[in-house]
Amino acid sequence: MKILLTTLNAKYIHSNLSLKYLYMSAVEHRRSIDVREFTINNDDDYIYTEIIRGGYSAVCFSCYIWNISRVLYLVENLKKAKPEMKIALGGPEVSFEPIDFLRSHKSVDYIMVGEGEEIFRDFVKTFVSRNQAFDKVKGLIYRLGGKIFVNPPADMQEFDSVPFPYGFLLPSDDRIVYYESVRGCPFQCSYCLSSVEKHVRPLPLERVKKEVSFFLFKHVKQVKFIDRTFNYDRGRCNQLVKYIMDHDNGITNFHFEICGDLIDEEFLRLLGAARKGLFQVEIGVQSLNPLALGAVDRQKNTDKLLPNIQQLVQLGTVHTHVDLIAGLPFEDYLSFIDSFNGVYQLGADQLQLGFLKLLKGTKIREEKDKYGYVFRESAPYEVIANKFMSAEGMARLKMVEHLLDLYYNRGGFQKTLEYAIQHLQVTAFDFYEELAYFFYLKGYQHRSHKKEDLYRIFYEYACWKDRSLPGVAADIQELLTADMQRTLNPDAVKKFNKKGWNIDRRTI
Ligand code: SF4
Repeated sequence: MKILLTTLNAKYIHSNLSLKYLYMSAVEHRRSIDVREFTINNDDDYIYTEIIRGGYSAVCFSCYIWNISRVLYLVENLKKAKPEMKIALGGPEVSFEPIDFLRSHKSVDYIMVGEGEEIFRDFVKTFVSRNQAFDKVKGLIYRLGGKIFVNPPADMQEFDSVPFPYGFLLPSDDRIVYYESVRGCPFQCSYCLSSVEKHVRPLPLERVKKEVSFFLFKHVKQVKFIDRTFNYDRGRCNQLVKYIMDHDNGITNFHFEICGDLIDEEFLRLLGAARKGLFQVEIGVQSLNPLALGAVDRQKNTDKLLPNIQQLVQLGTVHTHVDLIAGLPFEDYLSFIDSFNGVYQLGADQLQLGFLKLLKGTKIREEKDKYGYVFRESAPYEVIANKFMSAEGMARLKMVEHLLDLYYNRGGFQKTLEYAIQHLQVTAFDFYEELAYFFYLKGYQHRSHKKEDLYRIFYEYACWKDRSLPGVAADIQELLTADMQRTLNPDAVKKFNKKGWNIDRRTI
């Protein structure tokens, strides 16, 4: 009786934390369990063949918005090939309306609803014993003899009773290690699944320190805390930051998601003294429009938030990442421009422009009619339009997001961007919007571009602008050259110079 615990990650460098928790919770049966992580970039045939080759009696998939359609396609074919193979699904994508889900997906035999550790442990125990007593597995919804059975929900677990997930399975060197020191979030943003759980359950600090030491000892490259708000308890947060700094191995870096309003002086003092690159900090600003923030139950003090982020950026020791969400209630196109410009001027290393998703189980999804939401019916349930922004407006923001990602987030254009925003346009948003317009006008959106071609495209845009602003093309060419020399290796720069500034349209 061999069980496969698997998932499809969104990218190769990601690793799935849930699988490790599940494996460790059923560790006494580990000889019966294989763990395999695929990615959504793997071919369907490859994944299918690997699973069939494994000769599994049961396959358990961890399901998310980025993999659910692929999982369902695989599951259907696996079941056709091996009708006796049992299929179990868990994860946020199947935890809401699980009965309907089971009714409409006949290839699925079991759904695990809620936090999976205890459910999976009891499921494996029952499965390997072949006693069929699935009615005792809390949190399980299952099909038997053509009928659907719904067991009572699993109890909320003491987080400290959950084993350390990396006892046996540490991801390979080039993957991010995800780690959780707190479950739940004290905030209630209406679009977020973490707001569904009302309690915050931290692990004892001493345990966290011990586990962090393990990562440091193993020289893990990056540890990403998935705590929803790492600094919700500022004292605890600062103690952990200090602990990491005191035990820094010069290799591992740590990523936290924090609440910008809660940044305090001690946090800034500590981070200011940290090794450059030791910490990465992500802050969800989402919008600067108080009406939009209020409508999604995000009571943020932007008067405090923006200066706090600015101070963090100015430290120069921390890699900073800020997020905006397009498609919130009351955020029309003009209001989004204000949010964008307000956040852009903070100068964070990364600015992620995301689009609201109406996730199953969230309050905003229940309020879809109130705000006139039109959204994609299948995962990732992204907003198409609402009462405040048309589908065209949203599509324009998609174009801006694309260019922001290519030129700002991927780096290598810093000086040129500073100049361009100052000299070509009134605001940062205007600049990206126009660059996006040019990029799409030329048809460059159809394929991915080598970095060196991005320099050429920028220069072509500058030549286009030069007609109304004589001289800018020469200035920009100079700045692009300097940025390129800082970014590309000398051989790549030589190659670039040999080919010249004109884009080769045969390669576009
Ligand atoms: S968006 Fe962030 S702060 Fe808001 S509920 Fe979710 S995890 Fe908490």
